[in-house]
Amino acid sequence: MKRSVSELLFENECIICTNEIKKKNLVVLECCHMYHSDCIIKLVEKRSRKCPICRTRIRWNIKQLNRHIELFK
Ligand SMILES: [Zn+2]
Ligand SMILES: [Zn+2]
Repeated sequence: MKRSVSELLFENECIICTNEIKKKNLVVLECCHMYHSDCIIKLVEKRSRKCPICRTRIRWNIKQLNRHIELFK
């Protein structure tokens, strides 16, 4: 059964890898969508700097992302 994006969000799954998001590796983008920090860093490294859910541009660079991630540890 195919699940909708909203259901995935409700379950706190990262839609990049479809695994559960734990608080310690969470990153919340400016558009309020949640992903694993690792998944977002990979995305940015591939220069695909858009939120996979809503296509909002990710304005953070790797350095800024890492700083953001530190806050949640
Ligand atoms: Zn992920
Ligand atoms: Zn988004």
